[in-house]
Parts: sequence; structure tokens; C-alpha cells
Amino acid sequence: MQHKKIVDFGFSLITESEKYILLERIFNSIVHRYDIMNDLMSFGMHRIWKNLLLKCSNIRSEYVTLDLASGTGDITEKLSKFIRSGFIVSLDINKKMLKTGRDKLRNRGIIKNIFYIQANAECLPFKTNTFDNVIVSFGLRNFTQKEKAIQSIFRVLKSGGELLILEFSTPCSKFLKKIYDYYSFNYLPKLGKIVAGNSESYQYLVESIRMHPNQNKLQKILLKSGFYSAEYTNILGGIVAIHKSYKF
Ligand code: SAM
Repeated sequence: MQHKKIVDFGFSLITESEKYILLERIFNSIVHRYDIMNDLMSFGMHRIWKNLLLKCSNIRSEYVTLDLASGTGDITEKLSKFIRSGFIVSLDINKKMLKTGRDKLRNRGIIKNIFYIQANAECLPFKTNTFDNVIVSFGLRNFTQKEKAIQSIFRVLKSGGELLILEFSTPCSKFLKKIYDYYSFNYLPKLGKIVAGNSESYQYLVESIRMHPNQNKLQKILLKSGFYSAEYTNILGGIVAIHKSYKF
């Protein structure tokens, strides 16, 4: 009998194949309200965090860049202001998220040097040493096999290439954690119900943040995967963190 690997899905344990199905359902059900929910949940701060993420990068006009788990295209849009002679690959496993992002950017006239690809981060369909940098904004937490995805990123990065991860993380103080827990467990699923007609997806969001490796654990995973550095910067007392790594 084939052994089925068990993974976390928020606070529940399910098989890997079930997680892919449930994640697809979640993002399909919230895609139409994804952008507005990001603004409401973070009081608009996700825009600042995403700008900060790009500020941490050494992006150059000629870079070949991968926006991994690109969703509705916020990072691809920001990257398009910098990348002129290179190009951006906007990649997501979810067709509806990818299409919504592509339509949004095309409506804003952002077309040049961008390729949209539907694929799984855990087995990236690119040659070894393809990208100058890879950016993952609020995607890693959702990957079913996080370490496999990080190894896949490592493989497709060029030598000297840069990986930037923006993700929810663990607050540094107990007091902040208490307030943050109260806010997220009580407010976010209710907001999801009112705005997106869906509280379960936002319950998953809150739980998945708690199950995600904290700053130090993620740092260790990055170093174990072959990256020669793995610095991180906390934002809002560690509620969010930016991890930056390089391939030697
Ligand atoms: N990067 C965008 C942002 O910052 O707003 C979107 C982040 S959204 C929270 C997470 C995205 O990860 C979803 O679009 C989802 O489809 C994608 N995702 C989840 N698992 C994935 C996988 N294994 N490979 C590629 N994308 C994945």
C-alpha cells in the first residue's frame, strides 16, 4: 500500500493531495475579493511591506526575475517599474489568481517583459541557474512542501542570485502576540465572511500563520537548503519578516 504523506492545513492534519485540492478551493473562492481583503486586514500596510521588500533587493533593469506565488500580481507590477531589458516571470499554481493578476496588470497597461506561468513552486519548470532573483511574497506559508520549494528555488537561481521572502512570522514579544492573536482569531474570519462571503478561508489564513516556521527556523531551513546567507528583518515587531538569502 502506498504511504500517504501527512501535512498541516492550518491546525488540521491532512494528506498532501488533499491540501492541494483545499488550497485551490480557498484561492478560487476568495480571488474576487483578494485585493480588498489584503487592504482591510492589514489596514493598507501590505503595500508598505511589499515596497520595503523591493527596497531590500538589488534589482537591476536587466534582471531575469521570478515572482513566485504571484497571486494577483502586486509584486510583478512593482517589479515592472525596474525591469526594462530583462524580464519577469509571474508564476502561480492557481489559474484564477494568475489570470486575475494578468488581467489587472494588462488593464493598467503593464504588458512588456512579463510572462505568466501556471506551475507548482515545488518543481519549478525552468533550467538550473535561470534567475537573477526570486521573490516570494506571502506565498511560502501556503506551499504544501516548503523545503522542496526552497530547494527548487535554489536550483533555478543563478550563482550569486538572490532570494527574498516576505511572510507573516512570529511576534517577538508576548504582549504583542496576545493582541495579534486576539485581533486575528476574532476579527479576520468575521471580516472574511462579510467581505468575501467566506470565513473558513480566513480561519485557514490565521491558522497557517501560526503553523509557519518562525524567523529562526526558516533561517535554518534556508541555510540547510544550500543558501550561504539567510538574514532577516522583522517588521511590526515580527508579525511580518523579510528573509534575504544568496546562492553562492
Ligand atoms: N504574492 C501575492 C501577494 O503577495 O499578494 C499572492 C500571495 S497569496 C496569499 C498566496 C499564493 O500562493 C496564491 O496565489 C496561491 O495560489 C499560491 N500558491 C500556493 N501554493 C503554491 C504552489 N505550490 N506553487 C505556486 N503557487 C502557490
